[in-house]
Amino acid sequence: MEKREFKAESKRLLDMMINSIYTHKEIFLREIISNASDAIDKLCYRSLTDEKVGLNRDDFAITLTIDKENRTLTVSDNGIGMSDEELENNLGVIAASGSLQFRRELDEAAETGDTDIIGQFGVGFYSAFMVADHVAVVTKKYGEEQAWRWESDGADGYTIEPCERSGVGTDVIMHLKPDGEEQDEYSQYLREYPLYKLVKKYSDYIRFPIRMLMPHPVKKEDTPDDKPEYEEVFEYETLNSMVPLWQRKKSEVTKEEYDKFYQERFGELAPPQSVITVAAEGAVTYKALLFIPSKASGLYGTDEFQPGLQLYSAGVMIMDKCADLLPDEFNFVRGVVESPDLSLNISRELLQHDRQLKIIAGNLEKKIRGELERMLKDEREAYEKFFRSFGRQLKLCAMENYGAKKDKLQDLLLFYSSTEKKQVTLAEYAGRMKEGQKYIYFAPGDSVSAIDSLPQTELVKDHDMEILYFTERTDEFIADLFRDYQGKPFRSVVDGELDLPDEGEKKDESEAYKEGFDFIKAALGDRVTEVKASTRLKSHPVCLSSGQGITFEMEKYFTAVQPELGMKAKRILEINVDHPAFVTFETTRIIDPERAKKYAEVLYHQALLIAGLPIEDPSAYTDLLCSLWK
Ligand code: ADP
Repeated sequence: MEKREFKAESKRLLDMMINSIYTHKEIFLREIISNASDAIDKLCYRSLTDEKVGLNRDDFAITLTIDKENRTLTVSDNGIGMSDEELENNLGVIAASGSLQFRRELDEAAETGDTDIIGQFGVGFYSAFMVADHVAVVTKKYGEEQAWRWESDGADGYTIEPCERSGVGTDVIMHLKPDGEEQDEYSQYLREYPLYKLVKKYSDYIRFPIRMLMPHPVKKEDTPDDKPEYEEVFEYETLNSMVPLWQRKKSEVTKEEYDKFYQERFGELAPPQSVITVAAEGAVTYKALLFIPSKASGLYGTDEFQPGLQLYSAGVMIMDKCADLLPDEFNFVRGVVESPDLSLNISRELLQHDRQLKIIAGNLEKKIRGELERMLKDEREAYEKFFRSFGRQLKLCAMENYGAKKDKLQDLLLFYSSTEKKQVTLAEYAGRMKEGQKYIYFAPGDSVSAIDSLPQTELVKDHDMEILYFTERTDEFIADLFRDYQGKPFRSVVDGELDLPDEGEKKDESEAYKEGFDFIKAALGDRVTEVKASTRLKSHPVCLSSGQGITFEMEKYFTAVQPELGMKAKRILEINVDHPAFVTFETTRIIDPERAKKYAEVLYHQALLIAGLPIEDPSAYTDLLCSLWK
């Protein structure tokens, strides 16, 4: 029989399992049982629409079998099973779903020396090798005649061969390692009571019975009642209580139980930020258990991430990721929804149009929004942390359909404030507006420090007014689409009139300096749309504004994502006519026009730099600057 090699990544993980120094080896049982439960879920779901399965919900079970003599522990299920191809693909390669996050967290753990990571992270099938030196998998897939046996001693590969198995399902047969010290006392997994405790600890909410032969003292028949003698009789017992967490009242469940459930079921390392429970009766009866993560992890934010809630009906999982239950803006929420009202044997496409599902989705949306609002009010720091991970998603959705979700989302958004030096809400900004202040001022730019030094912010700051720093590409679009917040329009300090309450602004003196401006415009040609006197500059000589329409930040955005559109903002060169640089330019223009042209270039390029826009020909510009020393 040919020995096959593990794929490189699997091999590495496997090595770690075999030589594991981890303190939570016992979690192997949880992992193997979870796989068995998933496999049963799949066949159970199938049985709803396929009569040939011939099993009812109650017929499904997971069985633990101890063989002390041969030192094996076997976990059996009557689930969907695997074909030989699936054996190869599933057990020869670490599951793609978990591998990415696991690798990342592992690197992190290596750095911090936190070796407990495996105890917290679902590592799947390979965890069997933490306790076993030989693992065999005997499996028969539903609908197939042939059963298969997969076998491996670990790192040097595995074999697959045909074999016999009476029904569909899978046995994972683990031959335990010889005992070492304490943690490595593998014989404990050959004793009923420790196994029972492990099932209680990690797998109590598994919704199918986990059975094992348990010893019971039974009175020997031929012994007298007043002097009874007992013998041990083994009977199958269901070890787990099977009541899913979401069916229990929130007051009866501890935070630890919720945390553990969340971490195990969704493969998360950190506990959730918030737990939301819903028990609804009425138009639709359902229970929901939702989690708001404390930070993004795993595939979140990548194309591979699949949002959605697990959907159960009458104890059967009918969908693993039901995306229709979550609005886009809350796609980070994890959880479970169970409703007896959902018709079971409808196809997944039909489910999307299910009226009941729509009602549930509507309610959940409100619950989630309510919880986020509560966090914002009561747990500000936690909300800010949450927002660092998921604020971008909220903002992206705020832009959807021309800002159609404004009312729903505007109060959940945060922006950096020039005066508070932290993230603030629009409501907080509005509440702090000065008398006579007509606008919500904002300044776009790449970073807080870049915006801080923008010359255009000076005048507004001089008036003690707050400016929101739009550091995300989305922010300006949102302001554009929302137009206002509670009737207070947004206004960029970079474009348009500032309209400050008193004589804060300078008069437009463009007419007085027309000759000079015409000279600059002629020198710069099409590169600028217009040259004018600035009403917003104080200590800086120049800035660029874009007038109405596309702004510089939008230009940068489109250049990055859709360069073919060639989107360009207008470039209006604003000049501070009181600045010594301009005064020097004006005198030079009369006595040495050639030199003055160079000054015009310098002014323009300074404005580009401040706006964070690229200089078209940096080396030519450097030459020009140096030529001014002559
Ligand atoms: P994960 O469960 O995270 O996908 P595992 O390494 O635990 O990763 O398992 C890999 C795959 O092997 C599973 O996704 C499943 O398809 C298959 N598998 C494992 N155990 C069983 C089982 N008892 N019955 C059927 N398929 C199984």
